[in-house]
Amino acid sequence: MLDQTLVAGLGNIYVCEALHRARISPERICAAITPPELQRLVKEIKVVLAEAIAAGGSTLRDYRSADGNLGYFQHSFRVYDRAGEPCSHRGCTGTLVRTVQSGRSSYHCPECQR
Ligand SMILES: [Zn+2]
Repeated sequence: MLDQTLVAGLGNIYVCEALHRARISPERICAAITPPELQRLVKEIKVVLAEAIAAGGSTLRDYRSADGNLGYFQHSFRVYDRAGEPCSHRGCTGTLVRTVQSGRSSYHCPECQR
């Protein structure tokens, strides 16, 4: 299973974000994912993690002047905790939905994530 091997140790939030960017439905994690899709997913996971690290860095720098709201990576989430909001992919008219997998909340766009 994908989440046992490829994304071991990766937070559920980041998996949601990467799947959305790669336009792969989280409901297919345990199903067959083609090699090109897997490459896309790995690439997006790296992007998401790099952004998380960058956001963490800016959080530390901005900490003293913050108004109580820390600039965590969650500010740039595209799908996580955004059920009911429009999909951020250009040209997509989908609405983000929340599903529960293995007791964890997962968010995706049913329109462009297949
Ligand atoms: Zn979409």
